[in-house]
Amino acid sequence: MIVKLEDVWVRYPLSRGGLLSTTYLHAVNGVTLEFEEGKIEGVIGESGSGKSTLGRTALRLIQPYRGKVYWDGVDVTKLPERKLRKMRKDFQLIQQDPYGALDPRLSVYDIVSEGLRVHKLVSSKDEERELVLKTLASVKLTPPEAFAEKKPDELSGGQRQRVAIARALVMRPKFIVADEPVSMLDASTRGQILEILKETREKYGTSMMFITHDIAIAAYISDSISVIYGGTIVERADSDTIVRNPLHPYTAALIQAVPDPNPDKPVKEPNIKGEVEPLLDEPKGCVFYKRCPLAKDICRTERPKLREVGNGHYVACHLV
Ligand code: SF4
Repeated sequence: MIVKLEDVWVRYPLSRGGLLSTTYLHAVNGVTLEFEEGKIEGVIGESGSGKSTLGRTALRLIQPYRGKVYWDGVDVTKLPERKLRKMRKDFQLIQQDPYGALDPRLSVYDIVSEGLRVHKLVSSKDEERELVLKTLASVKLTPPEAFAEKKPDELSGGQRQRVAIARALVMRPKFIVADEPVSMLDASTRGQILEILKETREKYGTSMMFITHDIAIAAYISDSISVIYGGTIVERADSDTIVRNPLHPYTAALIQAVPDPNPDKPVKEPNIKGEVEPLLDEPKGCVFYKRCPLAKDICRTERPKLREVGNGHYVACHLV
């Protein structure tokens, strides 16, 4: 197991008039999830579902107030940053925004090579250059010599995202959190970036948490999918099972809302009312209670456990 989250809880104090209050936003509420070598785990949910916070917690960029985070079997939940720093090269983040993620003053070469120098992963300038150019070529920035000299503002959105991916890949990480890495890109660039991430997994056995709000993309790239709502995993199974046999009402609504590729068919509305509401207390009942078309009284007061209902398929719902 490369990364393991064990009953992880994360909350943020809300600010009132510039001061931090004792009221918290409960972003992640008791998530247990394991990431295996060479596997891509899709984490899907709406905006505000807690998926990005979960990704940052897995990378220990956020410290949970309860629960444990393990990297390669080592409990890193409370490790100070100076100790984490040595391990960070193996645990990388690719962010959503290809515009904001890169320092506009640096060349592509400097952006991609920085981690190699910080972590002393190369012993000579020649070795560094060879590795940087090879990595730029692997993300299809060719010829790599020409791209190495450019600055981020000379690149398209898709090219910038490739640079951000190259910066992560050059470290040969064991685990990557890719947080909505294609959501700001056009359709053809999106496909190319997804292929690069797939190739990376195949070539280096890199494990990934692929965060998205788009279930079609999650199904395309992921081996398995965790559906998150209210900072809670409500369903998890291999991608095919999630798409063909969703059992949780929230997953079913997400699948129902996927547009049909046939343009003659009318767009379906998801059978789900309201919007994601911020949780200001630890959840007592089902996190989906207020929006669920099937909710019963028990759902308000008792939190359903994530239980296995068959062959690696887990669901948190009283009715399943
Ligand atoms: Fe709906 Fe109840 Fe199931 Fe939650 S536990 S998803 S509220 S039926």
